Amino acid sequence: MPIATSSLDACEDQDENLPRRANKLVERRLYEVKIEFIPVIWQSNRRKKETIVGTTALISPEKINDVPAKHSWGTRKIPDLARLTALISHADTPHDLTTVRAPFTGETLGAVPICTPEDVQMAFCHARTTQRSWVQTRISERKAIFLRYHDLILQHQEELLNLLQLEAGKSRLSAQDEIFDVVINSRYYAVRAGRYLRPQRRKGALPLLTHTMELHQPVGVVGIISPWNYPLTLTISDAIPAILAGNCVVLKPAEETPFIALYAAQLLFEAGLPPEVFQVLTGKGRVIGPVFLKEANYLCFTGGTATGRLLAGQAGERLIKCSMELGGKNPAIVLNDADLNKAVTGIWHGSFANSGQLCVHMERVYVQSGIYDRFVPELVRQVKEMKVSAAMDFSADMGSLISQDQLDKVTQHVEDALKKGAILLTGGKARPDIGPFFFEPTLMTNIKPDMTLYAQETFGPVVSIYRFEDVEQAIQLANASSYGLNSSVWTRDVRRGQQIARQLQTGTSNVNETLNAAWGSVDSPMGGMKASGLGRRHGKEGILKYTEAQTVATQSLMLIGPNRFLPPERYAKTMTVMLKLMKAIPGLG
Ligand code: NAD
Repeated sequence: MPIATSSLDACEDQDENLPRRANKLVERRLYEVKIEFIPVIWQSNRRKKETIVGTTALISPEKINDVPAKHSWGTRKIPDLARLTALISHADTPHDLTTVRAPFTGETLGAVPICTPEDVQMAFCHARTTQRSWVQTRISERKAIFLRYHDLILQHQEELLNLLQLEAGKSRLSAQDEIFDVVINSRYYAVRAGRYLRPQRRKGALPLLTHTMELHQPVGVVGIISPWNYPLTLTISDAIPAILAGNCVVLKPAEETPFIALYAAQLLFEAGLPPEVFQVLTGKGRVIGPVFLKEANYLCFTGGTATGRLLAGQAGERLIKCSMELGGKNPAIVLNDADLNKAVTGIWHGSFANSGQLCVHMERVYVQSGIYDRFVPELVRQVKEMKVSAAMDFSADMGSLISQDQLDKVTQHVEDALKKGAILLTGGKARPDIGPFFFEPTLMTNIKPDMTLYAQETFGPVVSIYRFEDVEQAIQLANASSYGLNSSVWTRDVRRGQQIARQLQTGTSNVNETLNAAWGSVDSPMGGMKASGLGRRHGKEGILKYTEAQTVATQSLMLIGPNRFLPPERYAKTMTVMLKLMKAIPGLG
């Protein structure tokens, strides 16, 4: 299919004859699958000795009988992955496939088609056509869908958790956070969307004579490109306000995590959303990204800063609006008067949640001298006690990294720092005995500017600890970063903590918390300053960004300007009097 210059032209001409798509609604079906780990014997290079270092997951029922299991997760419910691929918006022609791996074991979990630029164009074309009718639906109808979705997500937690863990290699607790996030956003925007989108009366140009309304029109079709670290939250929670605002959404999830997005889509359709309002395309960002930029009326991107810069540049060329939720190198400041236990536990959780693969997690911890010698040993003790495993229950404190690439990056950051004089307090090594991409939770000190991890985002379970004397110095160090996503301040003096938080150049700042307080406050905007992004999610901003503000002003009685009864000179005088009155009479101006 030749690519038209814009799918809008193609849609206008071919509404009736759009290419046949493979995606169709499929009945939800769950497998009861026995998931087991079989230890793999691996030849150690260094010691020339056979050691058990890898594991193999068995997820296909027929394989289970072939090999004896050494460790078993038992029988688990997961969605039928093959059937989920029927939801992908691609042309009904053969496609190359890309495999999706289970990070816990490195084994293949499934495969999805590599969508082509033509598929993207077609998806946008369908979305544009559908949006014309979607925008006509009543807001109460849209609200009902998301309240049903809220319940469906809670009802299907078990298989969502299983799939999230298998596909992203995360601990169950981290997977649970994603589910809560989607549920909270479904409820929040379902309940508030009507109020946020309602036309608002504004002061008119001339009191009594100009009736002015501010409206919010949907932008049309929103493109969402999302990363792998929170593959449910960062695909669905951003889509909810876009859809409620009357837009259609075309989503490209990360290559590593398409199945959870597809299962979330299936539950959305079950909640009553027409399938073409929310379409999912799988494949390579670099290949299909440019068509997203050409077709979308708005781009919501979450991912690395380098990709964000590239895409924001392309959005700028087309003058489409975008939001960019990008990387961070988040600082925490622990003051002498902090509650030791709370601060240690908070920093511990806020640094190693999702194995440190969390945009708002802490990578730099500045500790004041007076508490340093109590804080650091206690944090080291807690980190040493962490349970790192592939457990598919709530027993693990930390799961795996997502991939070999991510493991290589984390290893390189740690090795580079150690080579240049960093002091290792705990951790520091990969753990292939647990799974191929596991890495120990790591604390280091004596970090210097020439080390890669001093300024660059590691996006792994690695935290640098710095000692400071003076609070001003800590604020300066915290702000001496190209990033500005999230920060945290620990003190018993809450007012002082808030004052410090206000001076930190980050989109969110938490006092006596690391990330959950700000992230969980969905009524308030969340996003990055500096190289951490553009635009905000959550709150009123998180839905109005998907709309075009439009002013409709209606004039009565007289035109504004000179007219037959008001020659230019009298008009100028009358206006001067009116302007003075508008300033003098409260409420008029
Ligand atoms: P990434 O930028 O490599 O990829 C993100 C998405 O962009 C993926 O879907 C990928 O396929 C796609 N992509 C890549 N190149 C593209 C291109 N040229 N055109 C179009 N799409 C393209 O990031 P990642 O490694 O998946 O995610 C990790 C990064 O995301 C970290 O830096 C992290 O801090 C950041 N992140 C930020 C937030 C936030 O809310 N600020 C949340 C989560 C992750």
